[in-house]
This record gives sequence, C-alpha cells and structure tokens, in this order.
Amino acid sequence: MARTNMRTTRTEPATGELLTLHVLRRARISPNFARVTLGGGDIARFVPMGYDQWFRLVLPVAGGTLEAAPKKLDTLSYLRFLTVSSATRPVIRNYSVRAFRPDGPGGPELDVDVVLHGSPEDGTAGPASTWARTCEEGDPVGLLDEGTTFRLPEGVRRILLVADETGLPALVNTLASLPGDVVGHALVEIPDEADRQELGGPAGVEVTWLPRGGVGGDGRGAGAVGALARQAACALPLPEEPAYCWAVGEQALATGVRRHWVAGGLPKTHVTFCGYWRARH
Ligand SMILES: Cc1cc2nc3c(=O)[nH]c(=O)nc-3n(C[C@H](O)[C@H](O)[C@H](O)COP(=O)(O)OP(=O)(O)OC[C@H]3O[C@@H](n4cnc5c(N)ncnc54)[C@H](O)[C@@H]3O)c2cc1C
Repeated sequence: MARTNMRTTRTEPATGELLTLHVLRRARISPNFARVTLGGGDIARFVPMGYDQWFRLVLPVAGGTLEAAPKKLDTLSYLRFLTVSSATRPVIRNYSVRAFRPDGPGGPELDVDVVLHGSPEDGTAGPASTWARTCEEGDPVGLLDEGTTFRLPEGVRRILLVADETGLPALVNTLASLPGDVVGHALVEIPDEADRQELGGPAGVEVTWLPRGGVGGDGRGAGAVGALARQAACALPLPEEPAYCWAVGEQALATGVRRHWVAGGLPKTHVTFCGYWRARH
C-alpha cells in the first residue's frame, strides 16, 4: 500500500481470520466499474462496520485454490505466505465494502465495486481488475477484514471527503454510515460522467462529481488521475469550525490534499489519508 496515516484512526475488525466466500454474480455497472457480489461460505462470520471498511481480497491463481492463502492477518502468516511458489501463491489486493446486505435471496451478500483499469489484452490491467472482468458464479475468494479508518472526532460535525474512482465505493459506504446532522462537501473524481452513482447520506453534505472525460479509465493517462480532485480540494476554503477531512485515491492526490489541509492549519489528527494505488509515470 502507498502512503497513509490510517493506522492512527483504525478501528479493528471483529475477526482477522481468513473468510472463504464465493462469487454470487458479476455485473458491469458503468463504463469503468464492475460490481462483484460475494457470499456463501463463511459470509455469516463477516461483521459489517460501515464507513470505509476495507479488506484484503485473496484471489487464487489460474484455477488454483486458497490452500496457500494466509489464514489470518499477522506477520508470521504473511511471511509464511511469501515463501509459497509464485506459481501457486494467491494474489492479494485491497478493496472496500461497497454495500452489505444481511438478507440477500440466498443469505448475506457483500458488494465489491472494482475499477476496470488498464487492458487485459496489452497487459496493463492487474490481476484484480482482470478478475472483475472474468470471474464466474461459484469462484472462490478469500477475505481478510481490515476494519475501518474513517473516524469522526468527538463533537465534529463538518467533513471534507476527497476521492478518485478507487475511493468511490468507500465514500458511498461512508456517506450511508454518517449521522444525519453531519454537513460538508464530498469531491469525487471519476473517469467518465456515466460512472456517477446514486448517493445517499446526510442532506447537508454537498457532492461534486469531477468527470475526466475518459482519461485514465483504460490505462491511458493514469498519471493524470487525481489532478482534478486535488485542484478542486485545494481551491475549497478550509472550514473555520472544527472539521474532519478524508482523502483517498491515487497517491499524489491523497498526499497532496493532506499536505494542503495541514499547511492550512488543520490538526493532523483530524485528517485521514491513504494512497489507494500509485500511478506509474
Ligand atoms: C484501503 C484500500 C481500499 C481500496 N478500495 C478499492 C475499491 O473498493 N475499488 C477499487 O477499484 N480499488 C480499490 N483500491 C485500489 C486497488 O487496491 C488498486 O487499484 C489495486 O492496485 C488494483 O489491483 P490490480 O491487480 O487491478 O492492479 P495492480 O496489479 O495492483 O497494478 C497493475 C498496474 O495498474 C496500475 N493501477 C492500479 N490501480 C489502478 C487504477 N485504479 N487506475 C489506473 N491504473 C491503476 C498500477 O499502477 C500498475 O501499474 C483500494 C485500495 C486500498 C489501499
């Protein structure tokens, strides 16, 4: 993972043990997003926490199994995992809980919205992006819950949220989790106008969508991702009352916005930032 201070605001998950789930269905929800719905297996042991809850998604390689996956989130299990041959070692990537439904048709369901970056044909798509284009009902996946990092300080009711497309799922879940009297602004950069989603959340949080007009969605121009959101965030006056600010997405976006806020006088304890991925320039 890229630069972050999220350990300082982390709320731990109910269990750090590997949960084995299955793909229930996959849908293309917009030009640059696939929604993969997971359930079955150990889903009853998953405890939804709302906000920006995220997890390590463990994907078996080429029709393999989860046999070699780390059984829990600790250093020893991870070091053991690294000794497994790369031919059979599952792939691990970070994803957010977009939504959790305890009462799906066949039991609880968890949605993961995956950005379809790059192209599998020319090798610019990573394994998770490729999985989201090709996975099928019944495919096994592992989930190692990491808990949440969004933490509204006591008494604070004003927020500023900034995200690129990779942070959109966490932002949607966060808006749905916030108390109704929270006010503020959310800036969301997306590859294309058609990637906008219906958002719930407090009426006092204004949402600004920043579509790039296709740039970055197909792997071309990934270096430009985050520039619009960063510019918009830096143009917003810092609130005079106490505020909590959360910035996630491409590393330069998250770190640049955080630097601007802290230089403007916001206490570091009131900022959570995380580079969700890093563009190769
Ligand atoms: C806490 C956390 C939560 C996250 N939640 C989500 C989520 O809900 N949905 C989501 O889609 N992503 C999310 N991400 C980001 C995701 O983990 C990365 O985009 C990841 O690199 C994708 O893995 P991959 O196998 O597709 O590509 P990788 O193998 O990791 O990377 C292959 C190449 O693609 C580039 N790349 C990676 N991601 C992107 C991108 N989005 N756009 C353009 N180029 C890219 C890399 O720079 C690299 O050159 C989250 C990250 C974190 C840390």
